[in-house]
Amino acid sequence: MVNETAPIPLFDLKRQWRQVEADVRAALERVFATQQFILGPEVAALEKECQEYLGVEHAIGVSSGTDALLAALMALNVGPGDEVITTPFTFFATAGVVVRLGARPVFVDIRPDDFNIDPAAVAAALTPRTRAIIPIHLFGQAADMDALREAAGHVPIVEDCCQSIGCRYHGVSTGALGTVGCFSFFPTKNLGAFGDGGLLTTNDAELAQRLRDTRVHGMRPRYVHHFVGGNFRLDAMQAAILRAKLPYLDGWIARRREGAAHYGRLFTEVGLEGIVMPPPELAGRGHVYHQYVVRVPQRDALREFLAGRGIGSEVYYPIALHQQACFASLGYKSGDFPESERATDEVLALPIFPEVEAAERERVVAAMVEFYLGS
Ligand SMILES: *Cc1c(COP(=O)(O)O)cnc(C)c1O
Repeated sequence: MVNETAPIPLFDLKRQWRQVEADVRAALERVFATQQFILGPEVAALEKECQEYLGVEHAIGVSSGTDALLAALMALNVGPGDEVITTPFTFFATAGVVVRLGARPVFVDIRPDDFNIDPAAVAAALTPRTRAIIPIHLFGQAADMDALREAAGHVPIVEDCCQSIGCRYHGVSTGALGTVGCFSFFPTKNLGAFGDGGLLTTNDAELAQRLRDTRVHGMRPRYVHHFVGGNFRLDAMQAAILRAKLPYLDGWIARRREGAAHYGRLFTEVGLEGIVMPPPELAGRGHVYHQYVVRVPQRDALREFLAGRGIGSEVYYPIALHQQACFASLGYKSGDFPESERATDEVLALPIFPEVEAAERERVVAAMVEFYLGS
């Protein structure tokens, strides 16, 4: 039985720990016994298991999702004078890495249905200086990759898969659709490490080698450096933990999808249809519900009301990137990307982690009924 008044967190890893504890402890014991902590056999084994899981030829463990994006752009020789097209409605890192390399993020708006990059806007933004396009499979639903690939032509596509591990676009994993895929194992992602971690994927053998070299200061063989890379290495302990958790991932995604379907049914049943707009599931886009994001009126007041009832929620993302102070020099202004800006005002993420109980979702929706319908 679910306690009628216990807080309902947006996310709670303690519930998952009960399920994975024995496997994770056994995995860590392996690492303790070998005393090998950086890269090595655990990372190699994780890479092989991810290759199989994702159906991709090369997987390269790295230090974070941010570093995966950074290394991908470095390996593609993105630098000063280059432009990289992405959206302003994403986590900061997607555009931050572009600026760190001296290149210019060229923002294009999102589509209102999936919050993902608008391929028509990409086509209009391409210039001879465009060196890469970064679509984000935001909240766990794949971008319109067919239209995007058509718009991109020969320009490399760097997929930001940090929220989309396990998502399959018409049967093909995100990360296997573009030139290179960038994954995050931040603890709250659908597959989370016990610290930072990330993964690069590609089907291009030459690029894979370049990414592997980029991970270790551009070095191959030892102490011979052909170009300047970084320290983007993954720890053996994180790899061992991720290997222990990977077999659970599809089950967790199934629970997230069940939770999303349940929310949708509840909104209809209680008469919130037309007030609360659930996330549309587009055909073939394989939504894995990293976040369950609704559009609602009076968003901030609702969030406060839910908090008052112990219900966690979050705004991903409250400020579009073209409106961030650190990107002021790019010269964008409010109104440039109306769909992204509208999303920042309307979106609210509700508890969707795999261990959320049906009764908890009922309480979340009941609180929303109270807020909007007053009963
Ligand atoms: C989490 C995330 C990142 C960054 O990943 P880290 O592992 O935290 O560095 C990048 N892009 C998106 C869309 C993310 O959600």
